Amino acid sequence: MSGGPHCAVVGAGIMGAAAAYALARRGARVTLFEQFPFGHDRGSSHGATRLFRTAYFEHPDYVPLLKRAAMLWRELEEEAHETLFEMTGVFMAGRADSGLIAGTSLAAEQHGLHLHRLSRAEARKRFFWFALDDDMEAMIEPDAGFVYADRARAAYLKAASAHDAELHENSPVSGWTAKGGQIELEAGGERHCFDRLVLAPGAFAGEFVKLGRKFLQPLRKSLFWTSPGEDRFTLANGFLPYAIEEADGRFRYGFPAVDADGVKIGEHTGGAPVADPLDQAPDAAAEARRDMEAFLKRRIPGVSSTIIKEQSCLYAMSPDGHFIIDRHPESEHVVLAMGHSGHGFKFAPLIGEALADLALKGETMREFDFLKLARFDQA
Ligand SMILES: Cc1cc2nc3c(=O)[nH]c(=O)nc-3n(C[C@H](O)[C@H](O)[C@H](O)COP(=O)(O)OP(=O)(O)OC[C@H]3O[C@@H](n4cnc5c(N)ncnc54)[C@H](O)[C@@H]3O)c2cc1C
Repeated sequence: MSGGPHCAVVGAGIMGAAAAYALARRGARVTLFEQFPFGHDRGSSHGATRLFRTAYFEHPDYVPLLKRAAMLWRELEEEAHETLFEMTGVFMAGRADSGLIAGTSLAAEQHGLHLHRLSRAEARKRFFWFALDDDMEAMIEPDAGFVYADRARAAYLKAASAHDAELHENSPVSGWTAKGGQIELEAGGERHCFDRLVLAPGAFAGEFVKLGRKFLQPLRKSLFWTSPGEDRFTLANGFLPYAIEEADGRFRYGFPAVDADGVKIGEHTGGAPVADPLDQAPDAAAEARRDMEAFLKRRIPGVSSTIIKEQSCLYAMSPDGHFIIDRHPESEHVVLAMGHSGHGFKFAPLIGEALADLALKGETMREFDFLKLARFDQA
């Protein structure tokens, strides 16, 4: 057992799992609490795959973080002895002025990243699966691909445990108090004392993080799978992960078939705001399904538009769609990562390191400055 500070981590989504690993590897004593069974599907981190992109349309300031995150995914692969990250390239299409195409182009230009722009003829030939409008541009981002999400979360938990972290599932934390440099935490009807607290509660942040509810809006999102049809929608056949933004701003994405579940497809825009993160919002799910069937017929006519599997997941939206990674205003010994707003997974290895930095050293890379809470004071 280590002699470093005793750190509690709340949440075993990808962020809490990555933080537990980073802390334990640095010699801290780590106890992680997860309210549900490990690997559960009630939060934001479950499922086979998550997109990874580097030319980040959401904000060019994420690019340096993504370059580092890509290296850290490879380090986790080495530690776990399994493939967790596929740099396949991602196919993107939309109008030149769409957030996706314009934002990706801007990030690539500012950071000297390569984008392979496809002529109409090339797009039709190489990506014949997609029926694109004449006014859409198409490109491939080579520094992009996907992460195997369930595997990555399990790998972090296993690696944390190998570095002596104590991991507790089915252990909801009902509250915490910072007092004179110590943190008191209530879990399973018992009080525990820690030197540091790392909060990574995803869409369950609510009152628990003691910042007020204004920093988080949980959104219920639906995901769908359709049949891969004679293996045509596989990586081996050149079908890449993709993102398409429509003229009305709706943004859908999908993956090649990577397992027996078939071809996964989702919508990044939209979703049903829910007051309670466990609310399933069935009416919104039914509407999303109808909408996705129509999208498949229109944009990927060769794939079956019959949905064979359906699941849901939570986006934990921050007020501006950017993450909140910071020390807690109430105590320098409490640090948090929340508001990942539906695009955090790819950053998890680096967010885990940042949380460990903040908890153990009180500061992290200055590239995280734009994600501090203080930005909301200025708004
Ligand atoms: C459908 C969907 C598609 C996505 N696609 C992408 C993508 O392509 N690329 C990408 O980068 N990102 C993507 N994301 C976003 C990404 O998955 C999330 O940003 C990330 O998983 C957030 O992880 P988290 O650890 O913050 O939250 P979570 O995974 O929700 O983990 C929080 C954990 O904390 C636990 N917890 C909360 N409160 C307590 C408590 N009091 N006591 C004990 N435990 C507690 C919860 O049970 C949960 O397990 C997607 C998300 C969804 C939903």
